[in-house]
Amino acid sequence: MKIVDIARLSAAAHRYGALAVVDNTLATPINQRPLELGADLVIHSATKFLGGHADALGGGVCGPSDLVNRIYHFREINGACLEPMSAYLLLRGMKTLHLRVRQQNESAMRIARFLESHSRVARVFYPGLAAHENHDIACRQMTGFGGVLSFALHGGFEAVKEFLPRLRYANLAANLGAVETVAGPPATTSHVESTPEERAASGIPEALIRYSVGIEDADDLIADLEQALDSRGEPASR
Ligand SMILES: *Cc1c(COP(=O)(O)O)cnc(C)c1O
Repeated sequence: MKIVDIARLSAAAHRYGALAVVDNTLATPINQRPLELGADLVIHSATKFLGGHADALGGGVCGPSDLVNRIYHFREINGACLEPMSAYLLLRGMKTLHLRVRQQNESAMRIARFLESHSRVARVFYPGLAAHENHDIACRQMTGFGGVLSFALHGGFEAVKEFLPRLRYANLAANLGAVETVAGPPATTSHVESTPEERAASGIPEALIRYSVGIEDADDLIADLEQALDSRGEPASR
C-alpha cells in the first residue's frame, strides 16, 4: 500500500538514461495512468482486476510500440501464448472493469474508515486515508484509491490466526482484485519467503492482513469484519 511518486521517479530514471516501468496491477487503469505521468512501460497482471473473476491467468504490457514490439518479439521466440479460454474470460471480464473498480473504490474507502475507528486495529494502510503517509501523492496521481487495503491487528500473528477464520464473506486466499472479497496475511502469503526481520524492514507488521474488497454489499462486509473483530475469545464457527 506504499505510494511511489511516478512522475518524480520517471524523471529521475530518464536523467540517468533508464526506463521507468510501473506495475499498475493494484491501481488498475481506471484509477491510475502511469504513461501520462511519464512512465515508459506499464505492466498488469490481468489475473487480478482486469479479468476480475479469479478464473483466468494472464498479463499485459502497455507502452509505445517500439518498446512493446521488442517484448512481443521476445515472447514470440519464447513461445508464451495466452490460451483461448483465458483470453476469452479476460476480454469478457474487462468489459465491467470500470463498474467493478468504481464499486471497489467506494467500498474500500468505507471499510478503511471503519477499520481505522476500531479499537482492535492497530494500523490501517489505504492511500485514500488522510493518515496515509503519501496521501498527497496518491491524490495527485490517482483518480481513485483502489480496492485493496491492509490493516494490522493488535496482538501479533496469534490475533490474525484467531481473526481470519471468523470472516464469513471473505475468502482466505492469496489472490486479489476479484469480485469476491479475499483476505490473507502477507506473513504467510506474498512475503512468506522473507524473514520476520526483512518484513519488519519493509514495513510489514507480522499481524498485517491484506484485504481485497470485492463487489459484495459494503454494509455486509463491514458487519462481517465487525463480528470477526468483536467475537474475540469465542470459538470460530467455520
Ligand atoms: C499477482 C501479481 C503479479 C503476478 O501476476 P500473475 O498473473 O499471478 O502471474 C504481479 N504483480 C502484482 C502487483 C500482482 O498482484
